[in-house]
Amino acid sequence: MHARFPALAASVLLLLSCSSAKAPPIERDYALTRITDHVYVIHGPNENPNPTNQAFSNNPGFVLVHGGVVVIDPGSSVQVGEMVLRKIAAVTKDPIIAVFNTHIHGDHWLGNQAIKAAYPKAVIYAHPKMMEAIKAGEGDNWIKMMNAATQGASRGTKAVAPDMGLDHDEALKLYGTSFHIYHNDRAHTDNDIMIEVVEEGVIFLGDNVVNKRIAANFPEHGNIQGQIAAIDLALKAKAMHFIPGHGTSGGREIALTQQMFLKSLRASVKKYYDQGLSDFEMKDKVMRDLGTYKDYYDFNNLGRVINAAYLQIETESF
Ligand SMILES: [Zn+2]
Repeated sequence: MHARFPALAASVLLLLSCSSAKAPPIERDYALTRITDHVYVIHGPNENPNPTNQAFSNNPGFVLVHGGVVVIDPGSSVQVGEMVLRKIAAVTKDPIIAVFNTHIHGDHWLGNQAIKAAYPKAVIYAHPKMMEAIKAGEGDNWIKMMNAATQGASRGTKAVAPDMGLDHDEALKLYGTSFHIYHNDRAHTDNDIMIEVVEEGVIFLGDNVVNKRIAANFPEHGNIQGQIAAIDLALKAKAMHFIPGHGTSGGREIALTQQMFLKSLRASVKKYYDQGLSDFEMKDKVMRDLGTYKDYYDFNNLGRVINAAYLQIETESF
């Protein structure tokens, strides 16, 4: 046994000396799904970032425009961003000209770093409130949270902020393709944008819509009523293909199901609120009321969403 100690010590030293180096590339191969002739999505595992998925958990997408590529949400780390670059390179040699970030949560945009490194001229767009949050330090917070959640699998990632702000109802034409932006004040966060690719009939929903999963709605930034209203905006667009922030893509039913979940959650919490129950006291009852969703990823963490709904209802009744 004793003879093994020097080797162990050496490997610990090696680990320590590597702790500032970049973590290895994404190991698993993820399928590239062709949504339309010009729109592709890499569906990440419907989980939270962890050591096994090496932080990858969102749905990065890309659009082939005339002579270029536009990326939506390049993922949770420099490693995921590099994987997205490899997937794009398998389809086209055209340069990435633009990136959209749907919101501040790091699993969606920390891959910006890889895109900018490969294509320094690419313009990264996001809601101005996301840019403000990064200036206030949210990017660095997300880098730390991601490293902790993945035990270092996102090591080497830096927060590369968006370049340009976009707000509700803005329309952009990028190399011949029209992009229409939707934003509804407070929804999943206070800085969500949804991106319609008009000619393709596709809408990227960010985390205003997730599929078979509980999306955290943080009371300090998000708002359930606002999220329901944001989904109405997405449903009014003429899109046929709905791309959620997490989970499988589909049609309008994905957005309608998310809306139904939020409405049921709110109605259940309101019912017990009116009976005078605290959020802690109503938790089991609400979970029973929402039993149809019990197979959703993170259902056991519904408590924090109940808490958010409770606080919102409390605020509204003052
Ligand atoms: Zn999110």
